[in-house]
Amino acid sequence: MAKVLCVLYPDPVTGYPPAYARDTIPVIASYPGGESVPTPVSPLGFRPGSLLGSVSGELGLRPYLEANGHELIVTSDKDGADSTFDHHLPDADIVISQPFWPAYLTADRIDKAKKLKLALTAGIGSDHVDLKAAAAHGISVAEETYSNSISVAEHVVMMVLSLVRNYLPAHQYAVNGGWNIADCVSRSYDVEGMHFGTIGAGRIGMAVLKRLKSFDMHLHYMERYQQPEEVESKLGLQFHATPEELVAHCDVINLQVPLYPSTEGMFNDRMFDHMKRGSYLINTARGKLCDRDAVVRALNSGKLAGYAGDVWFPQPAPVEHPWRSMPFNGMTPHMSGSSLSAQARYAAGTLEILECFLNHRPIRPEYLIVDGGQLVGTGERSYQLA
Ligand code: NDP
Repeated sequence: MAKVLCVLYPDPVTGYPPAYARDTIPVIASYPGGESVPTPVSPLGFRPGSLLGSVSGELGLRPYLEANGHELIVTSDKDGADSTFDHHLPDADIVISQPFWPAYLTADRIDKAKKLKLALTAGIGSDHVDLKAAAAHGISVAEETYSNSISVAEHVVMMVLSLVRNYLPAHQYAVNGGWNIADCVSRSYDVEGMHFGTIGAGRIGMAVLKRLKSFDMHLHYMERYQQPEEVESKLGLQFHATPEELVAHCDVINLQVPLYPSTEGMFNDRMFDHMKRGSYLINTARGKLCDRDAVVRALNSGKLAGYAGDVWFPQPAPVEHPWRSMPFNGMTPHMSGSSLSAQARYAAGTLEILECFLNHRPIRPEYLIVDGGQLVGTGERSYQLA
């Protein structure tokens, strides 16, 4: 029998929803590139389209786990030495956590988690786990690759349009009873003809480029390895070898690289110096990719005309975090990868991984980050230990 400790975000302040805005969600047959969607053997313990990522939703895992004699503890209380998470961690076999409400598995916590064998991310992005410590302790780390990539790409497109067209302030004028056309349009532009560049053109970055192609923007990308010529010519992509070169050419910049030691703080005062005045920056990758205070300075100086994203550090962000109140921001809590549609996919993927792990069957390589003391599968391609 395994003890599964699952950390999820709190239920809505109005309580767990008794009903939803829509009755169904579309069925997605496969991901771009042909990878299959999750295929657990056991029946899903939830109705697709319901709220699964909050405490009462339990990722729909209870029926499967209890029917097979396992214990499931679900909590949102994750920070501080007296948290429910820390209380249960020493005898947990499996920890499940979402990047939106991460249970930070630091080296210290891993030291205390003597029985821990699997750290499972419901979603994508396992940087809340100290991967080096996990590898050293023989803990496997897994996530559901592709489960919410398109959800995030859609959010990025929304933020590009919202910032450039000045949607959020204009909406606020309408809500407040105003008809201030001049106020609404004095910062509003068309994206057509602008230069858009993504730093990181993997699953999400590439999906964003594909979607923005139809807006007749000039498309740029930067990553460590250049894409094949056929991919570049299909989308009309211009490659840049360094982030500094890309930002100097672009009006709208998107960050879509994983967070690891060498990408932390990538966007700092020096990087902003390379940008055009009035650039827009979107970050749905990880908050720590940007120097928090340098972003605020760049907005105040006009170097940035807008900043939007849904990732912060730490999460949840403290009430006084300056990104909540800085000018021209389109920030949201970390939500882009947790739409009801995405939740159905990553909850099914979590079930698939649990079934494999508990029945000693191999987990798909595309879901594995760390195994046998080293980076493997997606981990090998998308993460670094130092
Ligand atoms: P991928 O691994 O598919 O893509 C990452 C890309 O970054 C790759 O193309 C890689 O290319 C590039 N890259 C890696 N290191 C560098 C570097 N130092 N400089 C430039 N490029 C680099 O990841 P995804 O697209 O699936 O996700 C990207 C990130 O988005 C995740 O790491 C995660 O942090 C975040 N995310 C956020 C979500 C949310 O809800 N907001 C949900 C899901 C993910 P190459 O190796 O050629 O350099």
